[in-house]
Amino acid sequence: MKNSKQDIRALSKKELQEFFVSQGDKSFRGSQVYDWLWNKATYNFEEMTNLSKETRQMLIDNFVINHIEVDQMQRSKDGTIKNAVKLHDGFTVESVLIPTMSRTTACVSSQVGCSLDCKFCATAKLKRLRNLNADEIFDQVVAIDKESKLYNGIPLSNIVYMGMGEPLMNYNNVLKSIEKITSPEGLGMSPRRITLSTSGVPKMIKKLADDEVKFHLAVSLHSAIDEVRTQIMPFNAKFPLADLKASLIYWYEKTGKSVTYEYIVWKGINDREEDIRALVEFCQAIPCKVNIIEYNPIDDGDFQQGSDAAVAKYVNALEANRITVTLRHSRGKDIDAACGQLANKIKV
Ligand code: SAH
Repeated sequence: MKNSKQDIRALSKKELQEFFVSQGDKSFRGSQVYDWLWNKATYNFEEMTNLSKETRQMLIDNFVINHIEVDQMQRSKDGTIKNAVKLHDGFTVESVLIPTMSRTTACVSSQVGCSLDCKFCATAKLKRLRNLNADEIFDQVVAIDKESKLYNGIPLSNIVYMGMGEPLMNYNNVLKSIEKITSPEGLGMSPRRITLSTSGVPKMIKKLADDEVKFHLAVSLHSAIDEVRTQIMPFNAKFPLADLKASLIYWYEKTGKSVTYEYIVWKGINDREEDIRALVEFCQAIPCKVNIIEYNPIDDGDFQQGSDAAVAKYVNALEANRITVTLRHSRGKDIDAACGQLANKIKV
């Protein structure tokens, strides 16, 4: 039976306060409930112990608290944890906890599936089924934070929007989730510890700049040559590199913040001298860093990790041009929790 009660977490703090006033109560009561819902991340009205029994019952009669449920948790040999997260309507997304020496990072999903069609990505095979709500993204962070404390004894330090989906195709909910994560009434995390990773939607990158966001931006570049990029990331035909570059220049002018380019080197696809030259040139546009990530095969023979020699050539060329470059090794491979592998084996 479909539940006709309203999801209380869809209400803003102001709407909650107004609701209580409309019930002849004080607006302060709305703030108390908001605190339970977001700061304390409570999923049960009965636990809201500073409300009277009658008030709790009134809330039960009027609202539900839709929330995610960790359906399955897997722990990797290297400490990585992957959660298969069940949404209230039965869909599943994944989120990952990646502990390293210096930080503990949550990698969260922003959509069920993805509307983009990157040829090397497991999530792309699912197509986009729906956007996640802000609270469904927020809940993934809360669940991972709890696990991090439980298994590793430390809270989360960083969040990356690099799970399933394209965050800039779910702009409003993603920004709302970051608002909840960063606000003192939510988790109170610094936006400087959050990175949004996008395949590069120029219009939305400009909007981020206009909205003066304070978090970091990463762009999955993978090639700085249009023909190559369109082959592996077909939406590039619609949003070519010139537009992407223009939006990044706009971003830098407005925010003063550099960007990180994520880049995978593949055999026979982008391991030629001209591919390297094109990347170095693209990097001249604004201050940036290049993060070369290891390819995680997705049971698809078309893509193969480039040779160490090819990766070294990239690193040398970038460093020779004083561009910071880092190499990232995959974590959690044994539980399919590595970048781009999410949703490989799950049913949504
Ligand atoms: N849509 C966003 C965020 C999700 S993908 C984006 O494109 O940035 C997160 C990162 O994983 C991206 O950098 C993406 O290029 C990378 N990725 C996708 N498939 C991968 C794979 N098979 N191996 C390694 N990285 C992959």
